[in-house]
Amino acid sequence: MKTVLITGAAGFLGSHLCDRFIDENFRVIGMDNLITGDLQNILHLLEHPRFTFYNHDVTQYISMDEDIDYILHFASPASPIDYLKIPIQTLKVGAMGTHNLLGLAKAKKARILIASTSEIYGDPLEHPQHESYHGNVSSIGPRGVYDEAKRYMEAITMAYHRFHGIETRIVRIFNTFGPRMRLNDGRVIPAFIGQALRDEPLTLFGDGSQTRSFCYIEDQVEGIYRLLMSDYHLPVNIGNPEEITINQLANEISDVIGKPLEIITHKLPEGDPVKRKPDISKAKEILDWEPQISREEGLQKTYAYFKNLPKEKLWNTEHRNFERYYK
Ligand code: NAD
Ligand code: UDP
Repeated sequence: MKTVLITGAAGFLGSHLCDRFIDENFRVIGMDNLITGDLQNILHLLEHPRFTFYNHDVTQYISMDEDIDYILHFASPASPIDYLKIPIQTLKVGAMGTHNLLGLAKAKKARILIASTSEIYGDPLEHPQHESYHGNVSSIGPRGVYDEAKRYMEAITMAYHRFHGIETRIVRIFNTFGPRMRLNDGRVIPAFIGQALRDEPLTLFGDGSQTRSFCYIEDQVEGIYRLLMSDYHLPVNIGNPEEITINQLANEISDVIGKPLEIITHKLPEGDPVKRKPDISKAKEILDWEPQISREEGLQKTYAYFKNLPKEKLWNTEHRNFERYYK
Protein backbone atom coordinates (compact mmCIF):
# COMPACT_ATOMS: atom_id res chain seq x y z
CA MET A 1 0.00 0.00 0.00
CA LYS A 2 1.35 3.45 -0.96
CA THR A 3 1.49 6.32 1.53
CA VAL A 4 0.79 9.95 0.69
CA LEU A 5 1.44 12.98 2.91
CA ILE A 6 -0.96 15.87 2.22
CA THR A 7 -0.21 19.26 3.78
CA GLY A 8 -3.07 21.74 4.16
CA ALA A 9 -5.24 18.66 4.73
CA ALA A 10 -7.93 20.51 6.72
CA GLY A 11 -8.34 23.15 4.03
CA PHE A 12 -10.62 23.23 1.02
CA LEU A 13 -8.44 21.56 -1.61
CA GLY A 14 -6.42 19.46 0.85
CA SER A 15 -9.49 17.82 2.40
CA HIS A 16 -10.89 16.84 -1.01
CA LEU A 17 -7.49 15.43 -1.95
CA CYS A 18 -7.47 13.36 1.27
CA ASP A 19 -10.84 11.89 0.26
CA ARG A 20 -9.61 11.10 -3.24
CA PHE A 21 -6.48 9.30 -2.03
CA ILE A 22 -8.47 7.32 0.56
CA ASP A 23 -10.79 6.28 -2.30
CA GLU A 24 -7.75 5.24 -4.35
CA ASN A 25 -6.71 2.92 -1.49
CA PHE A 26 -3.73 4.93 -0.24
CA ARG A 27 -2.64 5.35 3.34
CA VAL A 28 -3.11 9.09 3.87
CA ILE A 29 -1.25 11.29 6.34
CA GLY A 30 -2.86 14.72 6.66
CA MET A 31 -0.92 17.63 8.13
CA ASP A 32 -2.24 21.08 8.99
CA ASN A 33 -1.83 23.78 11.64
CA LEU A 34 -5.47 24.91 11.15
CA ILE A 35 -4.51 28.56 10.55
CA THR A 36 -7.10 28.92 7.74
CA GLY A 37 -8.45 25.36 7.71
CA ASP A 38 -11.19 23.63 9.64
CA LEU A 39 -10.95 20.19 11.24
CA GLN A 40 -14.63 19.75 10.33
CA ASN A 41 -13.51 19.21 6.70
CA ILE A 42 -11.79 15.95 7.64
CA LEU A 43 -13.83 14.92 10.67
CA HIS A 44 -15.26 12.00 8.68
CA LEU A 45 -11.71 10.68 8.08
CA LEU A 46 -10.30 10.91 11.61
CA GLU A 47 -11.43 7.40 12.58
CA HIS A 48 -10.53 5.87 9.20
CA PRO A 49 -7.92 3.08 9.56
CA ARG A 50 -5.88 4.42 6.64
CA PHE A 51 -5.93 8.07 7.76
CA THR A 52 -3.68 9.86 10.28
CA PHE A 53 -3.73 13.54 11.14
CA TYR A 54 -0.88 15.63 12.50
CA ASN A 55 -1.49 19.14 13.77
CA HIS A 56 1.83 20.64 12.71
CA ASP A 57 3.13 23.89 11.22
CA VAL A 58 5.14 22.85 8.14
CA THR A 59 7.48 25.82 8.51
CA GLN A 60 8.88 23.90 11.52
CA TYR A 61 11.10 20.83 11.01
CA ILE A 62 9.02 17.81 9.95
CA SER A 63 10.02 14.53 11.53
CA MET A 64 8.41 11.35 10.16
CA ASP A 65 9.18 7.72 10.90
CA GLU A 66 6.86 6.33 8.24
CA ASP A 67 7.88 5.58 4.66
CA ILE A 68 6.29 8.07 2.29
CA ASP A 69 5.78 7.55 -1.44
CA TYR A 70 4.10 10.82 -2.39
CA ILE A 71 3.85 14.31 -0.92
CA LEU A 72 1.27 16.93 -1.91
CA HIS A 73 2.15 20.34 -0.50
CA PHE A 74 -1.10 22.34 -0.28
CA ALA A 75 -0.53 24.23 2.98
CA SER A 76 -0.83 27.99 2.43
CA PRO A 77 -3.38 30.72 2.99
CA ALA A 78 -5.11 31.08 -0.39
CA SER A 79 -7.74 33.78 -0.06
CA PRO A 80 -6.45 37.31 -0.77
CA ILE A 81 -7.78 38.60 2.56
CA ASP A 82 -6.22 35.68 4.45
CA TYR A 83 -2.81 36.33 3.02
CA LEU A 84 -3.08 40.08 3.58
CA LYS A 85 -4.01 39.36 7.20
CA ILE A 86 -1.17 36.90 7.75
CA PRO A 87 1.48 38.00 5.25
CA ILE A 88 4.57 36.70 7.07
CA GLN A 89 3.09 33.22 7.60
CA THR A 90 2.16 33.19 3.90
CA LEU A 91 5.74 33.92 2.86
CA LYS A 92 7.09 31.39 5.37
CA VAL A 93 4.86 28.50 4.32
CA GLY A 94 5.68 29.05 0.64
CA ALA A 95 9.42 29.36 1.33
CA MET A 96 10.44 27.51 4.53
CA GLY A 97 7.50 25.10 4.41
CA THR A 98 8.31 24.10 0.84
CA HIS A 99 12.01 23.74 1.71
CA ASN A 100 11.14 21.39 4.61
CA LEU A 101 8.87 19.29 2.40
CA LEU A 102 11.43 19.05 -0.39
CA GLY A 103 13.97 17.92 2.21
CA LEU A 104 11.51 15.29 3.42
CA ALA A 105 10.85 14.17 -0.18
CA LYS A 106 14.60 13.79 -0.71
CA ALA A 107 15.07 11.82 2.53
CA LYS A 108 12.09 9.53 1.80
CA LYS A 109 12.75 9.28 -1.97
CA ALA A 110 9.17 10.42 -2.43
CA ARG A 111 7.59 12.15 -5.42
CA ILE A 112 6.38 15.64 -4.46
CA LEU A 113 3.70 17.80 -6.06
CA ILE A 114 3.50 21.44 -5.03
CA ALA A 115 0.42 23.67 -5.29
CA SER A 116 1.36 26.72 -7.31
CA THR A 117 -1.15 29.21 -8.65
CA SER A 118 -2.32 31.40 -11.51
CA GLU A 119 -1.12 34.27 -9.28
CA ILE A 120 2.42 33.60 -10.45
CA TYR A 121 1.26 35.27 -13.72
CA GLY A 122 0.29 38.36 -11.65
CA ASP A 123 -1.82 40.89 -13.57
CA PRO A 124 -1.15 39.12 -16.87
CA LEU A 125 -0.18 40.91 -20.07
CA GLU A 126 -0.66 37.70 -22.06
CA HIS A 127 -4.13 36.20 -22.45
CA PRO A 128 -5.03 33.40 -21.93
CA GLN A 129 -2.10 32.40 -19.73
CA HIS A 130 0.10 29.62 -21.11
CA GLU A 131 2.74 27.97 -18.91
CA SER A 132 5.48 29.60 -21.03
CA TYR A 133 4.36 33.10 -19.90
CA HIS A 134 6.63 34.46 -17.15
CA GLY A 135 4.11 36.81 -15.57
CA ASN A 136 3.70 40.41 -14.48
CA VAL A 137 4.08 40.45 -10.70
CA SER A 138 4.87 43.33 -8.36
CA SER A 139 7.21 41.99 -5.68
CA ILE A 140 6.29 44.89 -3.37
CA GLY A 141 2.55 45.06 -4.04
CA PRO A 142 0.04 43.76 -1.46
CA ARG A 143 -0.29 40.43 -3.29
CA GLY A 144 3.50 40.06 -3.46
CA VAL A 145 3.56 38.03 -0.22
CA TYR A 146 1.59 35.26 -1.92
CA ASP A 147 2.76 35.60 -5.52
CA GLU A 148 6.46 35.75 -4.69
CA ALA A 149 6.20 32.92 -2.13
CA LYS A 150 4.69 30.78 -4.87
CA ARG A 151 7.31 31.86 -7.41
CA TYR A 152 10.06 30.99 -4.91
CA MET A 153 8.25 27.68 -4.32
CA GLU A 154 8.47 26.85 -8.02
CA ALA A 155 12.13 27.94 -8.16
CA ILE A 156 13.26 25.81 -5.18
CA THR A 157 11.24 22.86 -6.47
CA MET A 158 13.01 23.04 -9.83
CA ALA A 159 16.35 23.38 -7.99
CA TYR A 160 15.68 20.19 -5.98
CA HIS A 161 14.67 18.47 -9.20
CA ARG A 162 17.77 19.59 -11.10
CA PHE A 163 20.33 19.42 -8.30
CA HIS A 164 19.10 16.46 -6.22
CA GLY A 165 17.21 14.63 -8.97
CA ILE A 166 14.02 14.26 -6.94
CA GLU A 167 10.71 13.65 -8.70
CA THR A 168 8.73 16.89 -8.66
CA ARG A 169 5.38 18.03 -10.07
CA ILE A 170 4.11 21.62 -10.21
CA VAL A 171 0.41 22.40 -10.62
CA ARG A 172 -0.64 25.99 -11.37
CA ILE A 173 -4.14 26.11 -9.97
CA PHE A 174 -6.65 28.65 -11.31
CA ASN A 175 -9.65 29.85 -9.22
CA THR A 176 -11.30 26.72 -7.85
CA PHE A 177 -14.54 26.57 -5.88
CA GLY A 178 -16.89 24.15 -4.18
CA PRO A 179 -18.05 22.74 -0.85
CA ARG A 180 -15.71 23.13 2.15
CA MET A 181 -14.50 26.59 1.21
CA ARG A 182 -14.78 28.79 4.28
CA LEU A 183 -18.06 30.67 3.84
CA ASN A 184 -16.46 33.93 4.89
CA ASP A 185 -12.90 33.56 3.64
CA GLY A 186 -13.42 36.60 1.39
CA ARG A 187 -13.10 34.77 -1.95
CA VAL A 188 -15.76 35.88 -4.35
CA ILE A 189 -18.03 32.80 -4.62
CA PRO A 190 -18.36 32.12 -0.86
CA ALA A 191 -18.51 35.90 -0.24
CA PHE A 192 -21.45 36.39 -2.64
CA ILE A 193 -23.34 33.27 -1.53
CA GLY A 194 -22.86 34.16 2.16
CA GLN A 195 -24.11 37.69 1.54
CA ALA A 196 -27.14 36.36 -0.37
CA LEU A 197 -27.94 33.94 2.47
CA ARG A 198 -27.76 36.77 5.02
CA ASP A 199 -29.90 39.03 2.78
CA GLU A 200 -27.02 41.48 2.45
CA PRO A 201 -26.04 43.24 -0.78
CA LEU A 202 -23.22 41.66 -2.80
CA THR A 203 -19.94 43.55 -2.45
CA LEU A 204 -18.77 44.05 -6.03
CA PHE A 205 -15.19 45.33 -6.27
CA GLY A 206 -14.50 47.83 -9.05
CA ASP A 207 -16.97 47.93 -11.93
CA GLY A 208 -17.13 44.13 -12.06
CA SER A 209 -15.59 43.96 -15.55
CA GLN A 210 -12.54 42.05 -14.27
CA THR A 211 -12.61 38.38 -15.32
CA ARG A 212 -11.89 35.03 -13.71
CA SER A 213 -12.31 31.41 -14.86
CA PHE A 214 -13.83 29.18 -12.17
CA CYS A 215 -13.11 25.46 -11.92
CA TYR A 216 -15.23 23.08 -9.85
CA ILE A 217 -13.36 21.14 -7.14
CA GLU A 218 -13.98 17.64 -8.58
CA ASP A 219 -12.39 18.63 -11.89
CA GLN A 220 -9.45 20.23 -10.08
CA VAL A 221 -8.81 17.12 -7.96
CA GLU A 222 -8.90 14.91 -11.07
CA GLY A 223 -6.35 17.16 -12.81
CA ILE A 224 -4.03 17.14 -9.79
CA TYR A 225 -4.29 13.36 -9.44
CA ARG A 226 -3.44 12.82 -13.10
CA LEU A 227 -0.49 15.22 -12.91
CA LEU A 228 0.94 13.48 -9.85
CA MET A 229 0.74 10.12 -11.62
CA SER A 230 2.23 11.49 -14.87
CA ASP A 231 5.93 11.65 -15.67
CA TYR A 232 5.89 15.40 -16.42
CA HIS A 233 7.94 17.66 -14.14
CA LEU A 234 7.32 21.14 -15.60
CA PRO A 235 4.38 23.34 -14.47
CA VAL A 236 0.89 22.52 -15.73
CA ASN A 237 -2.14 24.84 -15.56
CA ILE A 238 -5.25 23.21 -14.11
CA GLY A 239 -8.37 25.33 -14.32
CA ASN A 240 -11.53 25.89 -16.28
CA PRO A 241 -10.94 28.06 -19.36
CA GLU A 242 -14.52 29.44 -19.33
CA GLU A 243 -13.93 33.08 -18.52
CA ILE A 244 -16.59 35.40 -17.06
CA THR A 245 -16.72 38.88 -15.59
CA ILE A 246 -17.45 39.23 -11.88
CA ASN A 247 -20.65 41.08 -12.90
CA GLN A 248 -21.77 37.98 -14.80
CA LEU A 249 -20.90 35.83 -11.80
CA ALA A 250 -23.13 38.00 -9.57
CA ASN A 251 -26.01 37.45 -12.03
CA GLU A 252 -25.41 33.71 -12.15
CA ILE A 253 -25.42 33.49 -8.36
CA SER A 254 -28.69 35.40 -8.33
CA ASP A 255 -30.11 32.80 -10.81
CA VAL A 256 -28.92 29.90 -8.66
CA ILE A 257 -30.45 31.39 -5.53
CA GLY A 258 -33.62 32.28 -7.41
CA LYS A 259 -34.01 35.93 -6.46
CA PRO A 260 -32.60 39.27 -7.62
CA LEU A 261 -29.68 40.38 -5.45
CA GLU A 262 -28.77 43.93 -4.58
CA ILE A 263 -25.20 45.00 -5.36
CA ILE A 264 -23.01 47.63 -3.72
CA THR A 265 -19.69 48.59 -5.22
CA HIS A 266 -16.34 49.07 -3.50
CA LYS A 267 -12.98 50.21 -4.76
CA LEU A 268 -11.06 47.56 -6.71
CA PRO A 269 -8.28 46.29 -4.40
CA GLU A 270 -4.75 47.24 -5.41
CA GLY A 271 -3.13 44.62 -7.63
CA ASP A 272 -6.42 42.80 -8.38
CA PRO A 273 -5.75 41.19 -11.79
CA VAL A 274 -7.88 42.57 -14.64
CA LYS A 275 -8.24 39.24 -16.40
CA ARG A 276 -7.41 35.60 -15.86
CA LYS A 277 -8.00 32.52 -17.99
CA PRO A 278 -5.88 29.37 -18.25
CA ASP A 279 -4.57 27.98 -21.49
CA ILE A 280 -5.10 24.28 -20.75
CA SER A 281 -3.67 22.85 -23.98
CA LYS A 282 -0.79 21.27 -22.02
CA ALA A 283 -3.12 19.54 -19.52
CA LYS A 284 -5.23 18.26 -22.43
CA GLU A 285 -2.22 16.90 -24.27
CA ILE A 286 -0.20 15.48 -21.38
CA LEU A 287 -2.93 14.44 -18.94
CA ASP A 288 -5.88 14.00 -21.32
CA TRP A 289 -7.69 16.27 -18.86
CA GLU A 290 -10.30 18.95 -19.27
CA PRO A 291 -13.11 20.12 -16.98
CA GLN A 292 -16.35 18.13 -17.07
CA ILE A 293 -18.55 20.06 -14.67
CA SER A 294 -20.33 23.23 -15.80
CA ARG A 295 -20.17 26.36 -13.69
CA GLU A 296 -23.93 26.20 -13.23
CA GLU A 297 -23.79 22.68 -11.80
CA GLY A 298 -20.83 23.60 -9.61
CA LEU A 299 -22.58 26.70 -8.27
CA GLN A 300 -25.73 24.66 -7.51
CA LYS A 301 -23.70 22.11 -5.52
CA THR A 302 -21.77 24.83 -3.70
CA TYR A 303 -24.93 26.72 -2.81
CA ALA A 304 -26.54 23.51 -1.49
CA TYR A 305 -23.51 23.01 0.77
CA PHE A 306 -23.40 26.58 2.11
CA LYS A 307 -27.15 26.70 2.65
CA ASN A 308 -26.96 23.77 5.04
CA LEU A 309 -24.08 25.04 7.18
CA PRO A 310 -24.83 25.77 10.85
CA LYS A 311 -26.03 29.33 11.54
CA GLU A 312 -22.88 30.28 13.48
CA LYS A 313 -20.79 29.73 10.32
CA LEU A 314 -23.13 31.92 8.27
CA TRP A 315 -23.01 34.70 10.85
CA ASN A 316 -19.27 34.48 11.46
CA THR A 317 -18.57 37.41 9.15
CA GLU A 318 -14.84 37.32 9.80
CA HIS A 319 -13.85 39.33 6.75
CA ARG A 320 -16.70 41.83 6.73
CA ASN A 321 -14.27 44.70 7.36
CA PHE A 322 -12.25 43.78 4.27
CA GLU A 323 -11.45 47.44 3.58
CA ARG A 324 -8.90 47.28 6.43
CA TYR A 325 -6.88 44.85 4.35
CA TYR A 326 -7.67 46.06 0.83
CA LYS A 327 -6.05 49.49 0.60
P1 NAD B 1 -7.36 26.78 2.45
O1 NAD B 1 -7.04 28.02 3.22
O2 NAD B 1 -8.73 26.24 2.50
O3 NAD B 1 -6.37 25.61 2.84
C1 NAD B 1 -5.02 25.82 3.18
C2 NAD B 1 -4.69 24.95 4.37
O4 NAD B 1 -3.30 25.09 4.68
C3 NAD B 1 -5.47 25.36 5.63
O5 NAD B 1 -6.11 24.21 6.18
C4 NAD B 1 -4.41 25.93 6.55
O6 NAD B 1 -4.73 25.77 7.92
C5 NAD B 1 -3.17 25.16 6.11
N1 NAD B 1 -1.91 25.83 6.42
C6 NAD B 1 -1.57 27.11 6.14
N2 NAD B 1 -0.32 27.37 6.59
C7 NAD B 1 0.13 26.22 7.18
C8 NAD B 1 1.34 25.86 7.84
N3 NAD B 1 2.34 26.72 8.00
N4 NAD B 1 1.45 24.58 8.30
C9 NAD B 1 0.45 23.69 8.15
N5 NAD B 1 -0.72 23.98 7.55
C10 NAD B 1 -0.88 25.23 7.07
O7 NAD B 1 -6.95 27.10 0.92
P2 NAD B 1 -7.18 26.22 -0.40
O8 NAD B 1 -8.03 26.98 -1.33
O9 NAD B 1 -7.54 24.83 -0.06
O10 NAD B 1 -5.71 26.23 -1.02
C11 NAD B 1 -4.84 25.13 -0.87
C12 NAD B 1 -3.60 25.31 -1.71
O11 NAD B 1 -3.96 25.48 -3.09
C13 NAD B 1 -2.79 26.55 -1.34
O12 NAD B 1 -1.41 26.24 -1.44
C14 NAD B 1 -3.17 27.56 -2.38
O13 NAD B 1 -2.14 28.50 -2.62
C15 NAD B 1 -3.41 26.66 -3.60
N6 NAD B 1 -4.32 27.31 -4.56
C16 NAD B 1 -5.67 27.32 -4.35
C17 NAD B 1 -6.49 27.95 -5.27
C18 NAD B 1 -8.00 27.95 -5.12
O14 NAD B 1 -8.68 28.52 -5.98
N7 NAD B 1 -8.58 27.35 -4.10
C19 NAD B 1 -5.94 28.59 -6.39
C20 NAD B 1 -4.57 28.58 -6.55
C21 NAD B 1 -3.76 27.92 -5.64
N1 UDP C 1 -14.47 40.20 -5.59
C1 UDP C 1 -15.59 41.00 -5.47
N2 UDP C 1 -16.26 41.01 -4.29
C2 UDP C 1 -15.89 40.26 -3.21
C3 UDP C 1 -14.76 39.43 -3.33
C4 UDP C 1 -14.06 39.43 -4.54
O1 UDP C 1 -15.96 41.69 -6.43
O2 UDP C 1 -16.57 40.34 -2.16
C5 UDP C 1 -13.70 40.17 -6.86
C6 UDP C 1 -12.22 40.47 -6.70
O3 UDP C 1 -11.99 41.85 -6.77
C7 UDP C 1 -11.61 39.72 -7.87
C8 UDP C 1 -12.58 38.53 -8.09
O4 UDP C 1 -13.77 38.86 -7.38
O5 UDP C 1 -11.61 40.52 -9.02
C9 UDP C 1 -12.04 37.21 -7.54
O6 UDP C 1 -11.63 37.44 -6.21
P1 UDP C 1 -11.15 36.26 -5.24
O7 UDP C 1 -10.81 36.91 -3.94
O8 UDP C 1 -12.15 35.18 -5.24
O9 UDP C 1 -9.83 35.65 -5.90
P2 UDP C 1 -8.62 36.20 -6.79
O10 UDP C 1 -8.85 35.61 -8.12
O11 UDP C 1 -8.64 37.70 -6.85
O12 UDP C 1 -7.43 35.67 -6.10
